Amino acid sequence: MQKFIKDLANHVGEEITIKGWLYNKRSSGPIAFLELRDGTGWIQAVAVKKDFSEELWTEMEKVGQESSVEVVGAVTKHPKKENVFELQIKDFKILQLAADYPIALKDHGPDFLLDNRHLWLRSRRQWAILRVRDAITTAINEFLHQEGFIRTDSPIFTPSACEGTTTLFPVPYFDEGTAYLSQSGQLYSEAAIMSVGRCYDFGPVFRAEKSKTKRHLTEFWMMDAEAAFVEHDENLKLQEGLVRYILRYCLKNCQEELLTLERNQEPLQKADAPFTRFTYDQAIEKLHELGSDIKYGEDLGNDDEGLLTKDSAVPVFIEKWPKSIKPFYMKRDAENSDRVLNDDLIATEGAGEIIGGSQREDDYELLLSRIQAEGLDVEDYKWYLDLRKYGSVPHSGFGIGLERMVRWVTGVEHIRECITFPRTIGRLKP
Ligand code: ATP
Repeated sequence: MQKFIKDLANHVGEEITIKGWLYNKRSSGPIAFLELRDGTGWIQAVAVKKDFSEELWTEMEKVGQESSVEVVGAVTKHPKKENVFELQIKDFKILQLAADYPIALKDHGPDFLLDNRHLWLRSRRQWAILRVRDAITTAINEFLHQEGFIRTDSPIFTPSACEGTTTLFPVPYFDEGTAYLSQSGQLYSEAAIMSVGRCYDFGPVFRAEKSKTKRHLTEFWMMDAEAAFVEHDENLKLQEGLVRYILRYCLKNCQEELLTLERNQEPLQKADAPFTRFTYDQAIEKLHELGSDIKYGEDLGNDDEGLLTKDSAVPVFIEKWPKSIKPFYMKRDAENSDRVLNDDLIATEGAGEIIGGSQREDDYELLLSRIQAEGLDVEDYKWYLDLRKYGSVPHSGFGIGLERMVRWVTGVEHIRECITFPRTIGRLKP
């Protein structure tokens, strides 16, 4: 009977079948040690020559790294290690014999690995990252449903910009002219909350980012949450609740993965405490104290974000930014009309911005004047303005970048390892 490696603790003493791939092999005379993986984990399988026919032993000696195999054997406890199991091989079948697997179990350069991403995914490290990514997705879905959000999703083909016109990918769209790949589903979620109250979308978004940083992809996954009757302060509480839920979920459910990645878990544990809150003005003041030459009214760069959080055990909110450097849909701050009710959430350990959020402008005239002031075509936003004509309510939302969160939790240096097939300025293949 086929069993999965993750369940072997329940099958000690039983004879089972594992279907998977050969990860590594070493032999010492009459004993062969095969390291097998089946997608759920890794196990050492032991074969003793005297228990095999000549034919089967020869077959086993031939098997190369990443050959697909079916192995029958008895599950035993590791003689020395707690909670580690082995398979004593009784029978062995090669499903497909792989020879000269290009990724040997040694160091390769990043370009080589990225060119072979379709194979690189099978490494232990990439396996662990993919699983943490899945855990974060699950945690996000769980938390939002607990908070009364439902998933409605948003289109990818859009007729206009949401996050500025400089990072749009145009696509020819039949007789309709040019469509753009979505930068964020937010505007559509704002429509959907007027039906369901609280909703989110979770899918790929696209930014023609010219920046070649370790935090930017041109295609990344974003979860945009939107809620009716939620104002700025409650919006921040939801974001903090979500991030702390994700951290707890991963620490609880991803121990094997974090150990595989040699992730120091202490900073993640410590980050699960009340977050710090700075206004934009306070943040600039603090940055000046720390030696930054950033000017009032400028966006924070990567270095500024790092500087601001370097001594912080918890993520830092920067709220109430200048209107002039933020998108048209953000609601003005009633206490200072040059500021908007928004926030960026900066993670610890130099991981940078993970969330951007804001209360949305709900007044028809003010929104219209912002759209006009930005030089956007009002006709494109007619439907969006309708939401302020028919039962407008205070509402807020935020977008979390999945790969940014994966990068922080796993501690990997470059965001390109946080998605199955990364898309960056210089990479479209495989
Ligand atoms: P940044 O200033 O870091 O470029 P942004 O201000 O453009 O980010 P938002 O438009 O607020 O980001 O997007 C919401 C979230 O999406 C960000 O907080 C981040 O987690 C993620 N994100 C934004 N751009 C990218 C990108 N190019 N690659 C990966 N994730 C991104």
